Amino acid sequence: MRALTHADFLSLWEKGRGLHPLDQGLLAIHAAFPEARETVADWPLGQRNRALAELHCSYFGHALEGWTSCPQCGEKLEFNMDGRALAEQPQSQHAEPIVIHGQSFRLPASRDLARAALERGAAADPDAAAVRLLRACRVDGGDDAGQTWSEEELEEAGEKMAAADPLAEIVLNFQCPVCEAACHESLDLPTFLWAELEALARRLVMDVHALASAYGWSEREILALSDTRRRLYLEMVSA
Ligand SMILES: [Zn+2]
Repeated sequence: MRALTHADFLSLWEKGRGLHPLDQGLLAIHAAFPEARETVADWPLGQRNRALAELHCSYFGHALEGWTSCPQCGEKLEFNMDGRALAEQPQSQHAEPIVIHGQSFRLPASRDLARAALERGAAADPDAAAVRLLRACRVDGGDDAGQTWSEEELEEAGEKMAAADPLAEIVLNFQCPVCEAACHESLDLPTFLWAELEALARRLVMDVHALASAYGWSEREILALSDTRRRLYLEMVSA
């Protein structure tokens, strides 16, 4: 992984502002792993998630902390996951196509998800979106245009895909301490990482503003300061 400076993070944030979270995740990987620029959109999602977790561990700490709301009573349910458990998990070496009902499929990648997100109605009908995703990943060249998938078949397909690429979806399980409802939620790593990156970028811009106003230094000079020195100067400015 390439070492990213504060200036790199600021320009990454600027480039990714307003993009779809999928693209923000890919941009972050481009910046940290430039050698993967051409291929990352075709990586299985587990490989993408591992790279994002590695980035998080290096720059934002090992703890992936956040919260969700209990779907039943609205109680705030917090989670704290160790990002190293994701970053250090070996890449699944699943080179074989996944066979479901005699048809062969490869693992879905970011490019497939982006295409599925672009198609109308994807959000309205999750089953139709799953079928489109399966079609996009079919590798045996068969024609399935008229084929229908039952809910059970889709579930089986999902389970086989998950077994072949366990990090593709990171599922968090919760039990509400108030109403005891059990629920689960997927952790979307691109969104999660981008929120951290955005917070960092905003902090940096405010620091630049404060120090440039006080000392007349350029943005480049201020971003080149170590965290310790920047904080010390900021303390003096606000004293
Ligand atoms: Zn609850």
